[in-house]
Amino acid sequence: MSDSYDLVVIGAGSGGVRAARIAATYGAKVAIIEEYRVGGTCVIRGCVPKKLFVYASRYKDLFEIAPSFGWDVGTPSFDWATLVANKDKEIARLEAAYIAGLEKPGAEIIRDRATVTGPNTVKLQKSGRELTARTILIATGARPFIPDIPGKELGISSNEAFHLETLPHSILIEGGGFISVEFATIFSGLGVHTTIVYRGDRLLRGFDEDLRVGLEAGLVARGVKIIHQTNVLGLRRTGTDITVSFSDGVDAPFGAVMFATGRSPNTAGLGLEAAGVELAWDGAVVVDAYSRSSIASIYAVGDVTNRAQLTPVAIREGHAFADTVFGDKPTAVDHSLIGEAVFAEPEVGTVGLAEHDAATQGDIDVYVTRFRPMINTLSLKSDRMMMKLITRPDGGQVLGVHILGPGAAEIIQMAAIPLGMQATKADFDRAMAMHPTAAEELVTFKKPSYVYRNGQKQ
Ligand SMILES: Cc1cc2nc3c(=O)[nH]c(=O)nc-3n(C[C@H](O)[C@H](O)[C@H](O)COP(=O)(O)OP(=O)(O)OC[C@H]3O[C@@H](n4cnc5c(N)ncnc54)[C@H](O)[C@@H]3O)c2cc1C
Repeated sequence: MSDSYDLVVIGAGSGGVRAARIAATYGAKVAIIEEYRVGGTCVIRGCVPKKLFVYASRYKDLFEIAPSFGWDVGTPSFDWATLVANKDKEIARLEAAYIAGLEKPGAEIIRDRATVTGPNTVKLQKSGRELTARTILIATGARPFIPDIPGKELGISSNEAFHLETLPHSILIEGGGFISVEFATIFSGLGVHTTIVYRGDRLLRGFDEDLRVGLEAGLVARGVKIIHQTNVLGLRRTGTDITVSFSDGVDAPFGAVMFATGRSPNTAGLGLEAAGVELAWDGAVVVDAYSRSSIASIYAVGDVTNRAQLTPVAIREGHAFADTVFGDKPTAVDHSLIGEAVFAEPEVGTVGLAEHDAATQGDIDVYVTRFRPMINTLSLKSDRMMMKLITRPDGGQVLGVHILGPGAAEIIQMAAIPLGMQATKADFDRAMAMHPTAAEELVTFKKPSYVYRNGQKQ
């Protein structure tokens, strides 16, 4: 049996769903194939459930400062099963909304696993059907990379972390990226003794140094133990615990071990090499500015291309693909200014150049402030908030904004707009401050804290 379509999308995640929906809206006959759940990583086991868990974990801090505002909350208790059940209900609601959003413009959802068998053909594993397509879109995302070490099957990835039956008494999280620090925030906030082990010398490689230092200090203040420059060499079961062998010769038991050691583009076994599609060393589909692969009829968007593993990027790429191929509006996505949020505690928001990058690209002025967020001023909580503005000299173009502390992600989303418009410090200063807010600091900086001239900090 053979069916033919204008577009067959493999993967109903952030990028695939947007591309399928927009292409169908343009009148294309579209099939979208999904082997797991509609919504993909972000909705089912990524951004959305993660943020719900982060909200749950933040109650610990709120309960701690509540007495300073006169509240007596007694002894708070937490029920993991309730959180997981409520989260699952919300995810099911969102999945249904995604399904409706695809079906409304007429996209056909096929629940199966797909492989590519040629430039215009896709085979469905369960049903054995072969589909032909004028255009194929690969939107299969990425999957957790698990280091190949003895006992690795005893560990979990973020996928399983969303469905643990009970919370462990302790957890070791390996990795230094945003998934590692967000889960460290979640587990420690929910009362689990949490340790991060990372092969580098500081978490969040590539981020502005003040964010990295401040984030580590904040995590440590919340009781997270951080082990640097160390790898996990192996895991073995000891009673109900897992004993971890570290590269510094130490062995230690943990209730659970989670790998947050990166995510690999999901192309293994997809048949792309056989179809002649060029892949990068890490398995990512190599694409041009319009997301077209080395085979003219095959495109790819989202994590599988490894341009930036973020949902809004996948969505933007999916939409641009549909505009280009089915809307007669060739659209290339601009990847040059991508803001990032890390929903850790303290929260991180960042857009534009980090100080170490900006300093290599000409003279800059750096404005930094650190202060106690107002919510903590009645309590003994000593967390500091950090805000940094990096500009061309003497009030010139703003090149980077970096924030650590409450609301950082929300503030950075708005700061990304003037940065995209190449706003200057004078443009920022023209905005009337809103008081009392934390963000008012960004529009009231008077003198640079320090400057770089000819690459030298002064
Ligand atoms: C724990 C975690 C937290 C995250 N938090 C954030 C965040 O806060 N903000 C943010 O912007 N990003 C976040 N991300 C990243 C974000 O989830 C991804 O960038 C985004 O989902 C990528 O979308 P995509 O369409 O490329 O792939 P996905 O959303 O992964 O979708 C790919 C889909 O393809 C399906 N599939 C794969 N192979 C096949 C096949 N052969 N046949 C059929 N179906 C197949 C998969 O089942 C999946 O549903 C997070 C990721 C994780 C893991």
